Amino acid sequence: MKKLLRTILLVSFLLSVSHGITAQEDEKTIILITNVKVWDGLSDKTISSDVLIENNKFKEIKSNIKAPSGATVIDGQGGTLIPGLIDMHMHLMLWGGTTEGTYNYDAYAQGARAKVMMDRLINMGYTTVRDIGGNSLSIAKLIQEGKLDGPRIYSSGPVISQTGGHGDWGPANEGPGEGNYQTMTQNTHVVDGVPEVLKATRWNFRNGANFIKVMAGGGVASTFDPLNMTQMNLDELKAIVEVANAYESYVAVHSYHDRSYNMALDAGVKSFEHGFLITEPTVKRMSETEGVFWSWQPFGSYTLFAGGFPEWFTADMREKGAAVNKGAVIVPPLMRKYGVTVVLGSDMFGDEVKFARTNIVSAKEVPNTGYTDLEIMKMATSNCGKILTMSGPGRDPYKEAKLGVVEVGAWADLNIWNADPTKDVKVLASDDNLLLVMKDGKVYKSNLK
Ligand SMILES: [Zn+2]
Repeated sequence: MKKLLRTILLVSFLLSVSHGITAQEDEKTIILITNVKVWDGLSDKTISSDVLIENNKFKEIKSNIKAPSGATVIDGQGGTLIPGLIDMHMHLMLWGGTTEGTYNYDAYAQGARAKVMMDRLINMGYTTVRDIGGNSLSIAKLIQEGKLDGPRIYSSGPVISQTGGHGDWGPANEGPGEGNYQTMTQNTHVVDGVPEVLKATRWNFRNGANFIKVMAGGGVASTFDPLNMTQMNLDELKAIVEVANAYESYVAVHSYHDRSYNMALDAGVKSFEHGFLITEPTVKRMSETEGVFWSWQPFGSYTLFAGGFPEWFTADMREKGAAVNKGAVIVPPLMRKYGVTVVLGSDMFGDEVKFARTNIVSAKEVPNTGYTDLEIMKMATSNCGKILTMSGPGRDPYKEAKLGVVEVGAWADLNIWNADPTKDVKVLASDDNLLLVMKDGKVYKSNLK
């Protein structure tokens, strides 16, 4: 009997090994892209080169690669091949903002709308997004498992907010701690005190969050919180950071002004969103603190708010938006002066996602920043790739290879544009200029003839 069992085990082992080999041989896809200029995401020039892709990684990048047998050859028509774009501040689950989406549609409908957003994003050249508030945890997992098409997602899961904070999206007549559809569906945790914030943070990581998003100060697009307030106290922020540190991950804060930025720095926060009302000493402190970076929304703060506000903004939201618009030209030059690492995140949701790439173009429109087109393109590619690894080995779903660069061994995520965006980011303004989008070695869009 024992012998029989051993034989069965041996046979099934051999079968699994041989099956594994055959499966791999069968599934190997090889793509050779010729006739392109390559920008690797890091260097200050493009080089004429061929690019060989095996399965989902870059295999070789050099001139005159001989096409291996069975390779699909793509003629890049002299275009510029760059890393797939990355947006570091997205809200896939908040179509229509935090009010329209909550009161008129259920979470299933919002999930369907998230898929519409993801399809649009990948067609625009975005191969990775950092989803920074909303319950996209299972959607991110489906994409990672290859069961759903869309950009790679690094998800914070539900935002963590105090009562009356920027993530308190309940109706005005809600009783204390009563909860609402947004808390029920885990788009947000409204929590107060160290034990509650600990539980919410641990719940997020338990369910696969790649980092944590905390509302640490007043916001523009919310009902109960004036822009100048701080949110969470230092003990609460420290408790959240402690949990993130336990996972070797990090915390991102929504915040606009000096008081909340400094409290977050005291607590050990690394990712700073918005910040359009902060002053020079705070920027200097950010530059002196290891691992700290700034996530910039030039379109929302500068271009969009200069021309008016989204329709669903209340009068109060419009007033807050006007204050942010003033700061939008002051802070970016300071970031460059002190050399703070900057990434671009459009903070767009729903239909507005069509402006995600405009956010990159807007970075060039903000006056007197000093940033070059090349520096701006790094903020939408390699800088993001570096920062995304801060989710740590336990919570970085794509740690196996690099993102945001075109390098041997990196994930094969790329765009081909008909002109070089590192010389002029305005190339990104029109879809007509986008020739090809590839994510994970798979072509999602091609306008090549
Ligand atoms: Zn946001």
